[in-house]
Amino acid sequence: MLFITVTWNVMVRIFIKMQTKNNYVQQTCTLYEDLVCFRDIRPGAPHHYLVVPVEHMGNCKTLKKEHIPVVKKMVEVGKTVLQRNNFSDLNDVRMGFHWPPFCSISHLHLHVLAPASQLGFLSRLIYRINSYWFITVKPEKQRKVA
Ligand SMILES: [Zn+2]
Repeated sequence: MLFITVTWNVMVRIFIKMQTKNNYVQQTCTLYEDLVCFRDIRPGAPHHYLVVPVEHMGNCKTLKKEHIPVVKKMVEVGKTVLQRNNFSDLNDVRMGFHWPPFCSISHLHLHVLAPASQLGFLSRLIYRINSYWFITVKPEKQRKVA
């Protein structure tokens, strides 16, 4: 596990640039092997992180069966990041992907929000469970399978 700063990671810099509409934001990222994690610059909950593969993988529409391990790993990293930030109630977490074209960012990214019970009105809409624009993953269920 490594700690890096956005400015030295080209991929993350591009990603954050897209997120902030050309305004560079100095942000600390955590690199977990081939995944990178950082705070969403427009947090929808007290904890709001994005987990992104370093390698460009398109969006969740272009995901194939062979990407399942990567997605599982993204969820694992999401859980690790929450725990490292002293949030341990995995039943009160919302994790998921935006389904195109409802996502402005074409790089695959997992949203990790907690506590889910503290999502604001707009966030509840944007990160809504079982909506056709947001595909949720259940961290607690995944843990039982693994
Ligand atoms: Zn998104």
